Amino acid sequence: MEKIKMTTPLVEMDGDEMTRILWKQIKDEVILPFVDLKTEYYDLGLVHREETKDQVTVDAANANKKYGVAVKCATITPNAQRVQEYNLTQMWKSPNGTIRAILGGTVFRAPIMVKGISPVVRTWQKPITIARHAFGDVYRATEYRVPGPGKAELVFTGADGTTFRETINDFDGAGVIQGQFNKDSSITSFARSCFQFAVDTKQDLWFSTKDTISKKYDHTFKDIFQEIYDAEYKDKFEALGIEYFYTLIDDAVARVIRSKGGFIWACKNYDGDVMSDMVSTAFGSLAMMTSVLVSPDGNYEYEAAHGTVTRHYYKYLKGEETSTNPVATLFAWSGALRKRGELDGIDALGKFADVLEKATIDTIESGVMTGDLCAMWEGQTPARKVTSLEFLKEIRARMEQALA
Ligand code: NAP
Ligand code: MG
Repeated sequence: MEKIKMTTPLVEMDGDEMTRILWKQIKDEVILPFVDLKTEYYDLGLVHREETKDQVTVDAANANKKYGVAVKCATITPNAQRVQEYNLTQMWKSPNGTIRAILGGTVFRAPIMVKGISPVVRTWQKPITIARHAFGDVYRATEYRVPGPGKAELVFTGADGTTFRETINDFDGAGVIQGQFNKDSSITSFARSCFQFAVDTKQDLWFSTKDTISKKYDHTFKDIFQEIYDAEYKDKFEALGIEYFYTLIDDAVARVIRSKGGFIWACKNYDGDVMSDMVSTAFGSLAMMTSVLVSPDGNYEYEAAHGTVTRHYYKYLKGEETSTNPVATLFAWSGALRKRGELDGIDALGKFADVLEKATIDTIESGVMTGDLCAMWEGQTPARKVTSLEFLKEIRARMEQALA
């Protein structure tokens, strides 16, 4: 069989622990036998981040900007315990945070659905993609405890010296106070990423805030979305037969539960944090959830939504074969290869991505799966629990048949 040729390299960001082991197995079993893979490789494993004083993360993000498409393995975000374990000179920042700061944009998370593993919500027939605005609000807020009676004010001093002043509260005793912010530029780029992703994936876009209560702050989000929709996306949406729908966050929550799925739900930072965990859990498993960062200027970084699966890695180090689920990481590869094919006009890459995804879903639907899924399996045939490597070999066999 002739291997599929690529013209532009994918930016490949390797990672840590169990997912690093899966990364190599995935490449060896289901990518390299079929694709003449061209990547620019960056080792974001914690050891190499330490060796390069984290420069490798910055370089990888810049390469993502240069080439447009990256695929990333899960990485450790160091905490105090990791500083000891890896003998770090600094508690390096989260690579995802660094990459996001360089690329900007929005993270879209979507569940991978298979027959035999049903969402907790009976009406959901299609995936619900959550788009979380990953900037500002309570995550960048300034807050403190008010010690006792007094007046709290919100003051803005403009660069030209003009000031705005509003009383927040006349405290009659102790309490708390918080100042949040966001920027038009960030909200605009969030809106554009969401509209563009809806067009790319041909799905309706929902957006929700609490603008009835937050008449300036949340209302600005609503207005910016509407302006960008009217000016740049209305025609495209109409041509594709998709819809932009704005509603209040509490109404959105109720509608999401009653819906059939099959749309993108854009959420402010906090709502996205909370709702993405609710939606992903209700769909089944973090190991079946993909994640893509889309920047407003059209760069894409694909990854799994889960972490490095540390607990399995420690078993692996003791010589045990683990049954870690590689599906989300597989779909990160297929997503990235499909996008690369789209940008370079290589149809064969898109077809390959389809075959890889179908073989993966077929494998599970035939009753062959990793341990995490067995517990949720409701299919006709009894589930057969396999190791990660056996699972990948099953997928490979199906791909060979399909591509023969
Ligand atoms: P995790 O790696 O997502 O794993 C948490 C638990 O979820 C696992 O112990 C496992 O449960 C289950 N799980 C997750 N993915 C699975 C898979 N593919 N197959 C089977 N089971 C899976 O989260 P964590 O243990 O909190 O974090 C570990 C490390 O990952 C941390 O250092 C963290 O910084 C990093 N992290 C990185 C990213 C990223 O790079 N995007 C995201 C999150 C966390 P059982 O043990 O019960 O089988
Ligand atoms: Mg969270």
